[in-house]
Amino acid sequence: MKRWLVLLLLIPTSVPAATRPIRIHYEGTLEYEAHYRKPGETRAYHSDARWAWDGKDRCRLDITVSGQGDTTAQPETFLLLGERLFHRPDPGSRWVLTGGAHRTLDLLQAEAGIPGLLLRDAATRLGPGQPSLTIRHGRLEQLVILRAHPRLGDIRDSVATTFDRNGVPSEMTFVLHERDAQWRMRQHRVDWREGSLPDSLFQPPASFDPAKPSDEDSKPQGEPAIVEVAPHVFSFDMEDIDSRSLVVEFADHLAMIEFAVGSANGERMADAARKRWPGKPIRYALFSHYHPHYAGGLRAMIAEGATIVSPAGNEAFVRSLPALPFHVEPDRLARSPRPVSVRTFTDSLTLTDSLNSLVAYNYGARSNHTDDFVVFYLPKARLLFETELGWVTSDGKLRAIRRAPTLLSWIGEKHLDVDRFVQCWPMRGNAASLTRAELVALANPPTK
Ligand SMILES: [Zn+2]
Repeated sequence: MKRWLVLLLLIPTSVPAATRPIRIHYEGTLEYEAHYRKPGETRAYHSDARWAWDGKDRCRLDITVSGQGDTTAQPETFLLLGERLFHRPDPGSRWVLTGGAHRTLDLLQAEAGIPGLLLRDAATRLGPGQPSLTIRHGRLEQLVILRAHPRLGDIRDSVATTFDRNGVPSEMTFVLHERDAQWRMRQHRVDWREGSLPDSLFQPPASFDPAKPSDEDSKPQGEPAIVEVAPHVFSFDMEDIDSRSLVVEFADHLAMIEFAVGSANGERMADAARKRWPGKPIRYALFSHYHPHYAGGLRAMIAEGATIVSPAGNEAFVRSLPALPFHVEPDRLARSPRPVSVRTFTDSLTLTDSLNSLVAYNYGARSNHTDDFVVFYLPKARLLFETELGWVTSDGKLRAIRRAPTLLSWIGEKHLDVDRFVQCWPMRGNAASLTRAELVALANPPTK
């Protein structure tokens, strides 16, 4: 190790005193991985980030993230005033006082461009005892927070900064993981100023809203509510994470469909199934598409010994799941590793025995959502289980999703004997199921 490199795994006890006010303007690229068409897909956006710090307890970030050719993007703002952190998604929106489990991520973002501020807060509000710091010549070159993610296991949120020969930040890379999305921002300095800043930058909001619960606040708690939706077909209704899964009962085993969020949720679903059907193991686990709200808990099914049934296009994704590192908070699969069993199909796959029958159809790009997308048909119950294709309730009013007419015509073309739909998501405050006639009426409102 070079002599000038000091790697500190412990937080320094001395906190730098207040420094001169700083303004820094970065531009670069933000790579976002979220609800896209296929596993691993990322999209790149242009980022323009302007941080200002008064050298004491006030900091502000204005960040504009825009797609190619997008000239209408508006800045999102974080405003840190002492202990209070405000967020405003765009200049036309109301300020929100941040809170809940997402606040630590917001705080990291609000401070990410100012190494001196990150260094000052690393020992305290950025997570006591958690960040590891690389400090050289008294400057913070890297801050890494290792933590347990419900779906991805061990993840590292990080800020890395390089400095020019004058000790001014010249480049920064920022990596952040949210519950259902993650991103990496690489930026270079466009401008840097030291010296007094206008007070108007740090004006406290005249009014603001309280913090809204975020995905990070939605944690599996207690047992799923089990509802019989048809003979030998049950839904697991999980209000806490806004998800409805389906259990299809066969003569000597079960099939389960949709595993939201992460391992802990999949494990509680497995426990609830074992309690309700002690003699029937979960033999098959199926999911509509690779997004976290459906595949996030699949590791629990691998631990359970279930065969994961998937379109061939998602096979590599399913096979990659056991390799995820879960050392910080080991899930069941990490505690008792076992190989994954996968059964793939192209257009459809039928699971059937004397008691029940389940057909998984790869509805694919018709979903207008992901390349591989499965809907589940239960011929005996004349029922179709779907997600994101049916209906929502907004402002107390039920309406069809724009994708519903395509689903209805496809059912017609396939001559599926569907009488009723049950929906996984949106679930909270929404109808659990609709008859086909009801969905047809919603999707084709009478023209005036
Ligand atoms: Zn989705």
